[in-house]
Amino acid sequence: MRVVVLTGAGISAESGVPTFRDVGGLWEGYRVEDVATPEAFARDPDTVLRFYDERRHAVTFAEPNPAHLALARLEASLGDDLLLVTQNIDDLHERAGSRRVLHLHGDLGSALCEVCGTRSPIAEDLAGRPACPACGRPTLRPDVVWFGELPYGLDEVDVALAECDRFVAIGTSGAVHPAAGFVLTATGFGAATMELNLVESDVSLLFDEVRHGLASMLVPAWVDEVLAAA
Ligand code: NAD
Repeated sequence: MRVVVLTGAGISAESGVPTFRDVGGLWEGYRVEDVATPEAFARDPDTVLRFYDERRHAVTFAEPNPAHLALARLEASLGDDLLLVTQNIDDLHERAGSRRVLHLHGDLGSALCEVCGTRSPIAEDLAGRPACPACGRPTLRPDVVWFGELPYGLDEVDVALAECDRFVAIGTSGAVHPAAGFVLTATGFGAATMELNLVESDVSLLFDEVRHGLASMLVPAWVDEVLAAA
């Protein structure tokens, strides 16, 4: 049985990492257009660099919750038959033990050089303008995918969606494309689809089955069901 799981900010909410849209459409008090677009970075790079430095520091204090741990347990059983695709830029899946994680929107712990394109682990705050380890220029930006930029790994996701038997979306609002459309692709290729979310999302109607509740409760229960049937 091949499974594709898509996770969003909701899976990390109970770890104390705030989601995006739940409080008045702001992300940690900022408008998305002011911190998560290439235009915002061009206009006010200091604010954007500080914002992601703060997010990175905050995530180091967070711990994976039972939902992250359950998905690591699923991978331990299914191996390469599971592809875990996340829109999250935190590393809580990896810290829970997941090894095969595709970060569609990049990773808070990584920097991208605007000049040479090298991706490198962040060793110090980007707001201090450290040098790129590859080319030596002080031109590092967060290695996160901003609105208007192309997500990472879409070709791999497309293949996995075409081949999977089940597609499950967890804690994602269905407001950010292309991830919001994955359910349509999976359905088109014949997969059974399920959404696990606190409340109805923008795309709930597209799923075969929808379960409402906390990710920390729903995900371990669903993983138990899958493993019992495997
Ligand atoms: P979103 O914030 O737009 O939506 C979060 C969804 O999670 C909502 O539908 C909400 O109902 C649900 N939710 C909240 N708490 C939940 C819980 N305890 N259990 C189950 N569901 C819960 O998130 P998104 O769809 O992932 O889009 C947000 C974008 O912002 C992404 O592109 C991501 O890169 C970025 N972001 C990432 C993080 C992170 O890395 N943890 C946090 C905030 C924003």
